[in-house]
Amino acid sequence: MKITDHLKNATKTLVSFELLPPLKGEGINNIFNTLDELIEFKPSFIDITYHREEYVYQKRENGLLERKSVRKRPGTVSICAAIMNKYQVDAVPHLICGGFSVDETENALIDLAFLGVDNVLALRGDPVKGMATFEPEPDGHAYALHMVEQINDMNNGQYLDQDQESSAATNFCVGIAGYPEKHSQAPNMATDLAYLKDKVDAGAEYIVTQLFYDVKKFFEFVDSCRAAGITIPIIPGLKPLTTAKQVTLLPQIFHIDIPTDLSNAVSNCKNNKDVTQVGVEWEIQMCKELIAGGAPCLHFYTMGKSGAVQRIARELF
Ligand code: FAD
Repeated sequence: MKITDHLKNATKTLVSFELLPPLKGEGINNIFNTLDELIEFKPSFIDITYHREEYVYQKRENGLLERKSVRKRPGTVSICAAIMNKYQVDAVPHLICGGFSVDETENALIDLAFLGVDNVLALRGDPVKGMATFEPEPDGHAYALHMVEQINDMNNGQYLDQDQESSAATNFCVGIAGYPEKHSQAPNMATDLAYLKDKVDAGAEYIVTQLFYDVKKFFEFVDSCRAAGITIPIIPGLKPLTTAKQVTLLPQIFHIDIPTDLSNAVSNCKNNKDVTQVGVEWEIQMCKELIAGGAPCLHFYTMGKSGAVQRIARELF
């Protein structure tokens, strides 16, 4: 079922979770174990992230360094199929432009259509680790916008090879990313919103936001989107703090602010157990405000760990 249908049919705020594929070599039970602890909250859908290759340097016998490309967390598509089969819940694969030619993107989408996956979160992807800027493949998309356009074309029965004999229309519901505190590379919020609107005009049907810790910023973002003519549902992305390190790490990785009250509360904690307690309480309060403010769904980034999210969900769902 499409995410937009879940949202249309909802009589209250829905819940969904994002999980990471296990590290290469770990079994799929790793992800099933996390999901077993969250499935009681009846998530409307489960997102599975996509992780592109990274470069690692290995020392050769002659002392020179050899650059190797490794994918540490493969399996996004097959995990989605396995989850849909085991739990009868919709799974949303993340698909990124990075590392894909347009042809490979088309083939990945055909795989998803054959597996009965109705939803895709279309993303550009970050620069490869260690690189300052995002480099598309020579024949790949430079922006998520172009992937949304490609999916929309396939939904209209248009494949890359116009001379192809058959061209069955796919039927994907396309989600995209949005940034309440602006994407790190956008020169300003107005430009970021204009590009967001382009993705919506190209066929995107819902937005999931980057994580944030100040509810006011989410509602301001929603207001700015509405003022810019973006009318599709906007789902807040949420992640409770669980370690003291995250107070400095998350702003570096995600280019977000941690409110002073929250960072002060974490500073007063003796250990990460206390931080988790602070993080859970903060998030529960945020969720209550988001529900009261009409958020259509609360989307939790689990980062592969269910404990803190489970405690929050227990209070709310
Ligand atoms: P885009 O929409 O392409 O935007 C990227 C930047 O380019 C922005 O600054 C935008 O303002 C600008 N821009 C957009 N269009 C144009 C244009 N036409 N011309 C010039 N500039 C333009 N990453 C992963 O690798 N795997 C994942 O599974 C993953 N999941 C995510 C889930 C969510 C909910 C979110 C919020 C992010 C996720 N990311 C993931 C991270 C994401 O890939 C990065 O934030 C990436 O840097 C931007 O992706 P995007 O789809 O927002 O890009």
